[in-house]
Amino acid sequence: MSTSNYPDVQLLIDNQWRAARAGESLAVANPATGERIGSVAHARKADLDEALAATQKGFETWRKTPAVERGRLMREAARLFRERADNTARLMTMENGKPLAEAKVEILFAADIIEYFAEEGKRIAGRLVAPRTAATIQQVYKEPVGPVAAFTPWNFPINQVVRKMSAALASGCSIIVKAPEETPASPAELVRAFVDAGIPAGVVGLVYGSPAEISEYLIPHPIIRKITFTGSTPVGKQLAALAGAHMKRATMELGGHAPVIVAEDCDVERAAKIAAGAKYRNAGQVCISPTRFLVANSIRQKFVDGLVAATRALKVGNGLEQGTTMGPLANPRRLVAMERIMADAVQRGAEVAIGGERIGSLGNFFAPTVLVNVPGDSLVFNEEPFGPIAAVRGFDTIAEALAEANRLPFGLAGYAFTGSLKTAQAITEGLQVGMLWINQPAAPWPEMPFGGIKDSGYGSEGGPEALEAYLNFKAVSTLCV
Ligand code: NAD
Repeated sequence: MSTSNYPDVQLLIDNQWRAARAGESLAVANPATGERIGSVAHARKADLDEALAATQKGFETWRKTPAVERGRLMREAARLFRERADNTARLMTMENGKPLAEAKVEILFAADIIEYFAEEGKRIAGRLVAPRTAATIQQVYKEPVGPVAAFTPWNFPINQVVRKMSAALASGCSIIVKAPEETPASPAELVRAFVDAGIPAGVVGLVYGSPAEISEYLIPHPIIRKITFTGSTPVGKQLAALAGAHMKRATMELGGHAPVIVAEDCDVERAAKIAAGAKYRNAGQVCISPTRFLVANSIRQKFVDGLVAATRALKVGNGLEQGTTMGPLANPRRLVAMERIMADAVQRGAEVAIGGERIGSLGNFFAPTVLVNVPGDSLVFNEEPFGPIAAVRGFDTIAEALAEANRLPFGLAGYAFTGSLKTAQAITEGLQVGMLWINQPAAPWPEMPFGGIKDSGYGSEGGPEALEAYLNFKAVSTLCV
């Protein structure tokens, strides 16, 4: 498949696709080859000021647009986005590296998310509260919080944008998206579907540039009333502090380090297969990726054998090539991180069951890896690896596994495999996470809450809970005189 036709990605301001005012741009590279494939416009303050003025104007229009009409436009955007899925998937694979099939799933899932919020937006309703005195009307209004600034990362170039955009738009908010500079073309296609569907000018803005420069300008700006960020915990803490200093509402979807508790009463072969599939999706660059495999000692070897067999069956390569099941890492920083994690684990006595090294010197390929007998103080068991490394440790009791799972400050996703309802319930009650999948891979459906606790952030990006984050409540009591 051709790697040509990757665009020079532009900004969207006031429904105009255009270059940055100063004419600056950044190069975009293909992680499978290291080649420059295109560029992305680099916004500066002059562009941001225009985007802010547009978003304020867009908000005034959009908040008054009836929810059914908002829903209609959103469903039309979903339809267009689905129709263009093949082209958008190709762009995403070229800029991010993930296999085409994974890119396509992300795109089709994004269309589902848009449709879910298009419908859910119609169900936003206030309340009429029983008054304490006669001739009084007590009402609770729900109103859109105002223009939103969203900051999204490169690992799911579309999925990270669509949850924020859909919930904001369904609630009646306008939004400026600061999408990832490393993977700019596919999120631009998502935004294009909304523009082509007929969304009014200013309702959605799209900018790229220097992430810190943009967040430091937009978050304190009086026009922006809410921020939402997906990315690493250290950056999330900085942005949450800035939002706090300016009393802005915030949703933070940050890093995780998902424990996988594999109990001795589970179907071990099935568990290993599911765990491997989840582990190597997007080459492990997933905030909810299973990362700390805690396996009952009585079945540990059998589980590791299954995990290694599934790992060996992967076909690592350019995501555009048919049959590829794992692509390169999205940027060279992740390669450096994998090498650091591996050196530390091996030095502390972990054994490499499979993988462990970079593949070739072209592109950012790293072999899918299983580490066993990993000491608890190793980096891989403490820092989010965000790459294709599965680290395994044994346990004797579920209480011991839960203590290890809850030891870290993260609390995003967790997984468990067990044939016992009693064990499943003990894990459900005992695990400190925002999302838990038992006996199955992750299924972050739009109608379920999506988000973490502890250092993994706060707020939800799924279900009706996601809409609440974009709404203010106004309590009104009227004495009828
Ligand atoms: P990073 O911490 O520099 O950046 C993470 C994301 O935050 C990027 O999208 C970046 O553009 C953005 N960012 C950074 N500084 C910012 C700022 N001041 N204002 C606004 N946005 C800012 O790291 P990275 O090398 O891009 O990614 C590495 C780590 O980030 C991973 O190890 C992982 O922990 C985390 N990460 C998490 C997710 C997620 O889905 N939660 C996605 C991508 C990266």
